[in-house]
Amino acid sequence: MRRTNTCGELRAEDIGKQVCLQGWVRFSRDHGGVAFIDLADRYGITQIVFDPEDLPKGTDVNAMADTMKTFTRESVVSIVGTVRKRVEGTDDARNPTGEVEVLITEAELLNKSAAPPFEIGDQKEGVLPNEDTRMKYRYLDLRRTEMIQAMEFRSKFLHLARQYLEQNSFLEIETPILGRSTPEGARDYVVPSRVHPGTFYALPQSPQLFKQMLMVGSMDRYYQVARCFRDEDSRKDRQPEFTQLDMEMSFVDMADIQNMIEGLLSFVWKGLYGKELETPFPRIAYRDAMERFGSDKPDMRYGLEFVKLTDVVKDVPYQIFQRILAEGGIVAGINLGDGSAKVGRNEVDRYIHYAKNKAKLGGLTWMRCENGVLTSNITKYFTPEILENIKQAMNVKEGDLIFLIAGPWKATYEGGGVLRRKIAEDLGLVPDDVFQFFWMVDCPMFEVDPVSGKYDAFHHPFVLPLNDINDDYVAGACFDICLNGNELGSGSLRIHNADLQRAVLEKLGVPDETIEKEFGWFIQALGYGAPPHGGIAMGVDRLIAILLNKETIRDVIAFPKNKRAVSLLDNSPEKIDDSKLEELQILSLATGDLDLESLEDIDSDEQ
Ligand code: ASP
Repeated sequence: MRRTNTCGELRAEDIGKQVCLQGWVRFSRDHGGVAFIDLADRYGITQIVFDPEDLPKGTDVNAMADTMKTFTRESVVSIVGTVRKRVEGTDDARNPTGEVEVLITEAELLNKSAAPPFEIGDQKEGVLPNEDTRMKYRYLDLRRTEMIQAMEFRSKFLHLARQYLEQNSFLEIETPILGRSTPEGARDYVVPSRVHPGTFYALPQSPQLFKQMLMVGSMDRYYQVARCFRDEDSRKDRQPEFTQLDMEMSFVDMADIQNMIEGLLSFVWKGLYGKELETPFPRIAYRDAMERFGSDKPDMRYGLEFVKLTDVVKDVPYQIFQRILAEGGIVAGINLGDGSAKVGRNEVDRYIHYAKNKAKLGGLTWMRCENGVLTSNITKYFTPEILENIKQAMNVKEGDLIFLIAGPWKATYEGGGVLRRKIAEDLGLVPDDVFQFFWMVDCPMFEVDPVSGKYDAFHHPFVLPLNDINDDYVAGACFDICLNGNELGSGSLRIHNADLQRAVLEKLGVPDETIEKEFGWFIQALGYGAPPHGGIAMGVDRLIAILLNKETIRDVIAFPKNKRAVSLLDNSPEKIDDSKLEELQILSLATGDLDLESLEDIDSDEQ
């Protein structure tokens, strides 16, 4: 028997045809000797009927009935039969094959399934088993329509992206998985070398340095669907390995990179949804994003903007604000507007608690406009004039509730952003059918720790600074692409001058010998005619998860790790045998028995 059709294919026009279908027994029910089976595969579900009365002459009915008994849930079977119209009134309009059924004439069990640990239907959340069970039996979970659709969507997305990039002269080039550490702000996963005991490769946190090398190597336009590895705590949109659509281009400016991404997303959009995507995407400066929305990846599908009140309250007798302002901090407010009526005194207390414990804010001040004036337990510390000015600045109407946040610039706005998101969710302000892309631009090159004064790269150390790196403020030629409150990816122009690269690393406090050891090879390459270049990487898992409205990226990755970075399917990570550790000389390394000096010799011998 050879499959003639998939389980998603048969329609009314196939009525009368002899077909062979092969797939999984999803459900079966016995109606007094007549059996109905939902036969499923990736493409759909077809109803199969076994009716002993309808078998062709000469069929061994008992043998057939015995075979049918073996058709237990999730077993793989093959059936031959005739397509017929379903009995009047039993059509299933939700199923594309719902007008027809296949009357069995031959049947064969291809592989019996053990009783599945959960039902594989089109379960909605709540009926689904817990995530760990889904992970342990991922191959069963993948049979669910929702997972099949996610895999199909992801595959189509990547196919369209590749098509667009190929049309635009990009070369798909693979970069090494075993290499040297690439600093992207996380810990490395490392792999021990057996050939050179005591030495380790690092898995790439991104292909950053290699894609820059490809530009030095004149490749001009590169892309890769690149796997990246970062050892950091898993969250709903992070896991140890993830996929980036990684690109690099030579002789470009920032707008060229942004235009290319807009073109790519528009092309993909058209292919996925048959609709145009509105471009160019809006741009928002980093500082504005922080001060208006409390985030460098703000969700701008709803209002609830912060208003800076630092000047308005600068003379307020309220001591807490005075102290914060004297320390160079900020005061800002958010007006809940029409949503205010939904937030009573108890909810206000809950927000105060949330602000301190979840949003990491020092505190939260509230005021409500009653009978034309702002009132609360602390308004006695404010002058009527200042209260009136706050009202004006925040466009407060009767009944409006406002929250004030105060403290150091970055931490306070970031905390404010967390609070803003919570308020928006509680007030039902977040639409789930709007996709809003935008570019976050005008970013700094460095972040300076307010306590230690230490410089950190805002993106990474390879971004081109736009002014003298010794100026008080250094702008970076970098930007992010964001969607609905998520950062999808970062891009930048890169440093292509060896001296400048060295100077930036020095500014970041990397000791000279580390610069030489870790980046010497890279800086050397920049010295051999590196072209001006830049690029971007977009997180594929995250983008797909947002487009499909999934809670977590794990729902769009075929074999993800769980929240504790464990793969429950193959039980990794796993201890390895001492014999393997010995082979790798890791045990000797741990006990200090490994002679590292002789290893240096091995290295130099081979150079
Ligand atoms: N390598 C960067 C990252 O992984 C992206 C880029 O700058 O191209 O975020």
